[in-house]
Amino acid sequence: MSKSNTKFIFVTGGVLSGLGKGVMAASIGAILKARGLKVNIQKLDPYLNVDAGTLNPAEHGEVFVTDDGAETDLDLGHYERFLDQNLTQKSSLMSGKVFRYVIDKERAGGYLGKTVQVVSHLTVEIQDMILAAAKGFDIHIVEVGGTIGDYEGIHFIEAIRQMKRVVGENNCLYVHLAYLPYLETSKELKTKPAQNSIRDLRNVGIMPDIIGARSDKPIHKEEITKLSVFCDVAEEAVIPLPTIKSVYEVPLNLEKSNLGNFITKKLGLKTTKPDLSKWKELFKNINHKNGSVTIGLVAKYLSNEDTYKSIKEALMAAGWKENVKINFKWIDSEEIEKGNTKGLLGIDAMIVLPGFGSRGIEGKIISVRYAREQKIPYLGICLGMQVAVVEFARNVCGIRDACTEEINEKCKEPVIHFIDEQKKNICEENYGGSMRLGAFECKLKKDSLSYKLYGSENISERHRHRYEFNNKYKKKLEDCGFKVVGMNTKYNLVEVVEIPDHPFFVAVQYHPEFKSRPYTPRPLFLGLIKAAIKSKKSSEISKSKVLK
Ligand code: GLN
Repeated sequence: MSKSNTKFIFVTGGVLSGLGKGVMAASIGAILKARGLKVNIQKLDPYLNVDAGTLNPAEHGEVFVTDDGAETDLDLGHYERFLDQNLTQKSSLMSGKVFRYVIDKERAGGYLGKTVQVVSHLTVEIQDMILAAAKGFDIHIVEVGGTIGDYEGIHFIEAIRQMKRVVGENNCLYVHLAYLPYLETSKELKTKPAQNSIRDLRNVGIMPDIIGARSDKPIHKEEITKLSVFCDVAEEAVIPLPTIKSVYEVPLNLEKSNLGNFITKKLGLKTTKPDLSKWKELFKNINHKNGSVTIGLVAKYLSNEDTYKSIKEALMAAGWKENVKINFKWIDSEEIEKGNTKGLLGIDAMIVLPGFGSRGIEGKIISVRYAREQKIPYLGICLGMQVAVVEFARNVCGIRDACTEEINEKCKEPVIHFIDEQKKNICEENYGGSMRLGAFECKLKKDSLSYKLYGSENISERHRHRYEFNNKYKKKLEDCGFKVVGMNTKYNLVEVVEIPDHPFFVAVQYHPEFKSRPYTPRPLFLGLIKAAIKSKKSSEISKSKVLK
């Protein structure tokens, strides 16, 4: 009956959202991968969006981008970082995508006059999409977004319930993550809400094999026994998950709970001994800090730090490598625009973050100018590169009207512009509308700082943007001291610019954060942190300089 040789692990959550199901799923993946297994992960998201590209990052957190150009939920970022593996668009399935597929198929006569129903037409398509993502892997982990009992995720829950029949019950495991609140008055952890959420899971026909008990307090044997007895799960399969300092401790904690062996035994898998040395190494560094540096992050979305999740992770990873603590200083570009420039003081390096739209953009331009003139290490990412180009064109090359077409379509000197015709070809090659999405090659000049940092002439990084550097201005900017050091030669697109007469000024059209990993931070973040340490050491004075 089984259509696959893969073993499946389904992860659901209960009681509360935001428990860290993504981290749990990714950490299970990490401990299984450490046993030599080929692991994939997929997120099923109940939203009716077709992908995450149109979601507001201030509300929903970062839009993560895969090599093949899928715009996904930020959990895919966790998955890639924990598995140290590039995922594909198959790893992200939103309700909108599968609904659209079913409706399009129905319109095209694909169901041969049948009454098309949630069960089983929709559920079978979901299962096919799960099986397609699982192909070629030993283990396929599927996280269902939302909380058990949510009305809107029920088609996914029904689809994973049936998977037991589709692939055979010995090939499936169900993991449920539930929250244990702490009651101050009686000073105890309560298991009742978790029990209720498992009852909700049973009501829809799923018996969990493993319970992840999430709590802000330490979890004792007493609570574990209670959950085991009341929820009918082996005691060894109730895994305590107290809140810890870093999410990267979770794989080691799961291993300590013997979860890896429990899973492989239950699924009948023979594996090598787990090699978790890289996680142990990282953990050692996280706890061994050597001073601190303050990184100014200039943005317009400041309400939700998850908006820039991968950038924060990349900076922290670089900090662990260099044994420094990273202090994040969020700088509101709209405040800078209003003349409130105090936020720029006291930083050892600056990143102008990616973004869309014109709000706060002049504040970003003022910030780059400050970094350039005060010789503060600067990394521009995507929009941060575009504003660096505008700033340099205006204030160094004297192109007063220099602008990006994103702010002003009728701009007289569009140093950043939209390239209609060519864009069609570029976008067709990958995925998605008018944006350049996914991984593109870049060739670096050998005499550049970026080449030195990457240690290679040919690199590949991911993109998510509409506008591009206008090559018409290349010569003029270069004559003034700006250097184009990285190009996509296939489409003749500028990818990396630098200012050589500066301690560290690198701005990139791509998003280096998406390929950064906890133990192998992307070179540009490492370079920025090294430059920040140097800048902090060498000049206490520069920190107190005010914007002229
Ligand atoms: N808004 C800019 C563009 O679309 C930059 C996008 C970004 O920073 N990701 O080109």
